[in-house]
Amino acid sequence: MNLPFLKTFGLMLIIASSLVACKTNNTNAVSDTSTTKIDSMNTFEIAKTDEDWRKQLTPEQYAVLRQKGTERPFTGKFEDHYEPGIYTCAACGNELFQSATKFDAGCGWPSFYEALDKTKIIEKLDKSHGMMRMEIMCAKCGGHLGHVFNDGPQDKTGLRYCVNSVSLDFKKKDSTGTK
Ligand code: FE
Repeated sequence: MNLPFLKTFGLMLIIASSLVACKTNNTNAVSDTSTTKIDSMNTFEIAKTDEDWRKQLTPEQYAVLRQKGTERPFTGKFEDHYEPGIYTCAACGNELFQSATKFDAGCGWPSFYEALDKTKIIEKLDKSHGMMRMEIMCAKCGGHLGHVFNDGPQDKTGLRYCVNSVSLDFKKKDSTGTK
């Protein structure tokens, strides 16, 4: 493994982590009833060894999904992506967000005001980097997605699910319009 690359990537993750609160500098943990909260690690439906995740994921995906890193803002492939469809977990395919709930938060990461279903995502209090944030994870594999904040659109849910592009895949809406 390329050591200088890992050091550089790790540094980028630390810097990006400090920026996740975006333009509002909101450090309040979100408390709502939209998704399931946990206090400790659940046993997930898809439970793989660390070695298996390393083999399956790219180094960037592994750093974010399994090591709770953060991609640099305005660099992700879905930050400015507005095709109709469904965003899935890049690690396990779990359907997480609908394109209709995506909005431009101006913070450099894909943002959604609602999860596709309340069972799809779990939340966990994150006290890292001197902040109190609510981490969001895929409920099926435990992959780190990002954080949820309470500065979303007030005419919707008021929530902002701030997600790393690298944690997501995308399923384009099919021609029948059924999905
Ligand atoms: Fe997943």
